[in-house]
Amino acid sequence: LSFAIATLWSCSNPNENRSSNNQINDKVDSVLALMRLEEKIGQLNQYSLGSEFTGPGNKKGQDSIRYQQLISGQVGSVLNLLGAEDTRKMQKLVVENTRLGIPLLFAYDVIHGYQTMFPVPLAESASWNLDLMQKTAQAAAAEAAASGLHWTFAPMIDVTVDARWGRVMEGAGEDPYLQSEIAKARINGFQGEDLAHNKTIAATAKHFAGYGYAESGKDYNSVNVNQYILHNHILPPFKAASEVNVASFMNAFNDINAVPATANQYLLQDILREKWSYDGVVVSDWNSIGELVNHAVSPDLKDAAKKAITAGSEIDMEGTAYVQYLSQLVKDGEIEESVIDNAVKHVLKLKFQLGLFDDPYKYSDVEREKEIVGNSQHHALAEEIAKESIVLLKNEDHLLPLKSFKNIAVIGPLAKDKDTPLGNWRAQAIQNSAVSLYEGLENALPQSTKLTYAEGVKLSIGPNNFFQEQVINQDDRSGFEEAKRTAKNADIVIMALGETAYMSGEGRSRADIDLPGLQKELLKEIHAINPNIVLVLMNGRPLELRWEDENIPAIVETWHLGQRAGTAIAETLLGDNNPSGKLTMSFPRHLGQLPIYYNHKVTGRPSTAPGQVFYSHYTDVGNSPLYPFGYGLSYSTFEYGEIELSKNTLKEEENITVSINVKNTSDRDGQEVVQLYIQDLVAEETPMIKSLKAFQKVQIKAGESVKVEFSINKDMLSYYKSNGDLSLEKGAFRVFIGENASVENYKEFELK
Ligand code: BGC
Repeated sequence: LSFAIATLWSCSNPNENRSSNNQINDKVDSVLALMRLEEKIGQLNQYSLGSEFTGPGNKKGQDSIRYQQLISGQVGSVLNLLGAEDTRKMQKLVVENTRLGIPLLFAYDVIHGYQTMFPVPLAESASWNLDLMQKTAQAAAAEAAASGLHWTFAPMIDVTVDARWGRVMEGAGEDPYLQSEIAKARINGFQGEDLAHNKTIAATAKHFAGYGYAESGKDYNSVNVNQYILHNHILPPFKAASEVNVASFMNAFNDINAVPATANQYLLQDILREKWSYDGVVVSDWNSIGELVNHAVSPDLKDAAKKAITAGSEIDMEGTAYVQYLSQLVKDGEIEESVIDNAVKHVLKLKFQLGLFDDPYKYSDVEREKEIVGNSQHHALAEEIAKESIVLLKNEDHLLPLKSFKNIAVIGPLAKDKDTPLGNWRAQAIQNSAVSLYEGLENALPQSTKLTYAEGVKLSIGPNNFFQEQVINQDDRSGFEEAKRTAKNADIVIMALGETAYMSGEGRSRADIDLPGLQKELLKEIHAINPNIVLVLMNGRPLELRWEDENIPAIVETWHLGQRAGTAIAETLLGDNNPSGKLTMSFPRHLGQLPIYYNHKVTGRPSTAPGQVFYSHYTDVGNSPLYPFGYGLSYSTFEYGEIELSKNTLKEEENITVSINVKNTSDRDGQEVVQLYIQDLVAEETPMIKSLKAFQKVQIKAGESVKVEFSINKDMLSYYKSNGDLSLEKGAFRVFIGENASVENYKEFELK
């Protein structure tokens, strides 16, 4: 039977004029018509399975209930099984044993590379280079696809405003516009033009919605946001993702305004399906359907299944709620079978789009896997984007790039660390395979330079992996003395400090965001001996760096920079790479400023009235961040000219051309991210102070100027009212153009 069906659904539609989408829908319907209720529910069931299920005679797997479910069509997709060989075997098991032979989908978290590790997403976002981000997603997809995978749970497009939240490393920061642009680039990179191509994979917009607003930055915490924030900050990247046809959406774990996202009809029906006409599949997060019981909105798993499927959560990832209870719920008349049919259609559609019905094994090719995974072009790409992701935070007296130093000391727990740069969510990265900072320097420096090293202090003790909490060293100072001796004899000290790979990421929220453990103490002691320090930071989130900014002459933010971290950092320190990265999250002066983000609302007591008591401010640290959104230095210096507008008033259907001259006033070629922000001066609902609406990353030769042009249109002047409607209101606006969100250079115009 399964062979006959395969022939039926792979043959082309006789009506050639119909779009391929319609053809796929017809095929989906024809398959659905053959399916029994249990088989349909199977398509909505996703398990995390390992290779114990594929090996012949493997008792552990084959005696399990899950194995029986697998070979009887009660599993539709599998998470975490990898490799061309294993995926082929499991696919065969399912295609040959189940009644209809419907192929499985293999899914995995390919977040910033499959085996070749690119910088963590927050780092990549600091490059503001959409083209490169698209390319790294494309390369990650090619590696994953060659390893049998069809579907990645990426990109994470949660807007994030609180650096305590560990998952800020997975996204593109605090700005909804930039997050949207990057979402599109990454989705286009993963999915390519044709999902059926065996070098592309389906992408996921996650986590829908609000996960980045976990209260107090504590992972999985409740989300309480008003409708204005929801529509203007949280939802735009998801809307952008749906517009570029992202293959799937993933639920968020959290509740949002008292309704868990997984059972949220407003999000999943009213917004996603009705307002945005989204036609892909919705997958739950890991057991987030089961967690409706923990959220205390369902008394038991059966009720959770009912609430989730009714709201529109279609695939149950690891929750077993659907496979256990959906069939009974249909039989009892508690849910209509048509609700299940709709969900199954989305799953089948994705399988058709990927071409799995034509060839279920097309992704699982051992030869291609050898050729593509971890190849040298991908490593070169990792180096290219790493260089653009570095952000130069401070460079007093042009200490950098390093000039004729004879004796360099490299100190710190991350200096020789070959693992931390790989970051969290590292898929199949080879452990300890990154180029360390020390190696990078060793390779780049001439023989005549003396390079010395001391670890100084251990950052963490105990496990360094995804699943366990790390123990941070709070009392072992035994390395301090050696480090101080090393520093004393050097012309310059490069200190590599920060967070290890697993100090940020899922479940890794921190109440404090300074340099963890004894690192700051070490830094202070070294500083007392030799203040000539370049601080190289490796971390997955903004840190609180007030003391460092006041005392250390040069600070370089390198994040968790991926496979070629050390090479990229060394080239930057030595001046072969001119840094051009800009922050995509504000760095606070003080922990108590969190959450801190540039595009906040205006208040009745504006914060721009210093000297007065009754304005919205902190008396002890002030309001400004230490380093604002969009901030980053270069070895070049840029001077912005006057903003010029093609006209001062515009009507709804018109555009204004805005231009500005940016001059490179240094003797080095460099790149600058020119940022355009708009402020709505009066609106029906309290507006934001300003919002990023456009940017261009431009290369400017030493001593030369470029004219950068933007076009302002009505979309850039609109905002969402709390009821979710887009609103364009007449009146005055300001356009700011400059090098970061603190720009004060503006011109006014009016929408008539
Ligand atoms: C995470 C998701 C991820 C899923 C599968 C969950 O814990 O929140 O982002 O895709 O696990 O690994």
